[in-house]
Amino acid sequence: MPVSKKIRQFMEQGSWIRRMFEEGIHLKQQYGPDNVFDLSLGNPIIEPPDQFIAELRRIALNPQAGMHRYMPNAGYPETREAIALRLSDEIGVPFTKDEILMTCGAGGALNVVLKSLLDPGDEVVVFAPYFVEYVYYADNHGGICKSVPPDNKYYPDLDKFKSTLSDKTRVVIINSPNNPTGVVYDHEILSRLSAIICEKEKEFDTEIFLVSDEPYRKIIFDGLEYPHIFDHHIRGIVATSHSKDLGLPGERIGYIAIHPRYQGRSNLVDALNFCNRTLGFVNAPALMQHIVKNLQSVTIDSREYQAKRDLLFHALTQMGYEMVKPQGAFYMFPRSPIEDDVTFVEELKKHMVLVVPGKGFGLQSHFRISYCVDDRTLEGCLNGFETAIKTVMSS
Ligand code: PLP
Repeated sequence: MPVSKKIRQFMEQGSWIRRMFEEGIHLKQQYGPDNVFDLSLGNPIIEPPDQFIAELRRIALNPQAGMHRYMPNAGYPETREAIALRLSDEIGVPFTKDEILMTCGAGGALNVVLKSLLDPGDEVVVFAPYFVEYVYYADNHGGICKSVPPDNKYYPDLDKFKSTLSDKTRVVIINSPNNPTGVVYDHEILSRLSAIICEKEKEFDTEIFLVSDEPYRKIIFDGLEYPHIFDHHIRGIVATSHSKDLGLPGERIGYIAIHPRYQGRSNLVDALNFCNRTLGFVNAPALMQHIVKNLQSVTIDSREYQAKRDLLFHALTQMGYEMVKPQGAFYMFPRSPIEDDVTFVEELKKHMVLVVPGKGFGLQSHFRISYCVDDRTLEGCLNGFETAIKTVMSS
């Protein structure tokens, strides 16, 4: 067997989304694609905005010498400048291009950040339910993930958070709007989290970084304003991308932003540059950097996702499913009507509905629905959800 024991084990444990997606393909071959309702994958259904196509065309028709060559590892100064300007406007904290580093998506950004910060055995605190890749990203760089359970609003349980932080804690990762719950962290929770981090930094005489993974920041509903971490923690780092807000996950374009008032930022930026290079990303894709430079004020129309949330939330709660109403992203995370989420997900599969067990996000007895699907799938899945809950409740 050529594959290491660790990776084999990770692949066994961590492939719930992929597994459900592959079962969907199998079922579609067996029963026809129109009869299977696949809500397993978070692949944006909304196409990139017209402005993206216009920029792509403009650049293709006006090629500049050197535009496809290597560049500084942090990315083009003018793209970083455009992002810094936009963030300064949005947050009211004065960013310059020197606090921005272009990356291969949010996944690339998180790996660059963790590689820059972690020593072997350092701890990374995550909040259940969480995007499971965090566990593997931390492991990539010698880190160990410690998971904190949620309270009944799917915010972190703050007492448990406090007791989880140790002298080994180097990074705390938050994700808002959240995959898989759709919950947005408000200012109060950010402020309480930061106060605990500061208290523990003093107690242990360490620096703890609050890393905000926010690829869904601009997919937010009901007129909510996004609360930023930079208002709360000086060792704040944002890892984000245009995978969801411009519908470009295949193009691998994102960025890191670090707090402009963090005193150690010059050393940190040097390390981020070094790690972007030595992880083999070298730099974020050149063509996409040229394009997103001019699209910092553009976002897909998140009202489309909001309408899908409304339809599904209303229908499922009427059927008796319990969940917190998502405020952003394109996921919801209902309680499983029976304790064993894997068994319930199997029951849904019998009715041609594919979702992912909560186990895949570090929180059992739930399941994740990804509603970034077409309306046919959204309307077609309702029958299956209704039959499945009735079946398990009556047995
Ligand atoms: N973080 C979260 C919470 C995600 O859901 C995803 C992708 O689904 C990522 C990070 C990775 O995003 P990207 O495609 O920008 O690497």
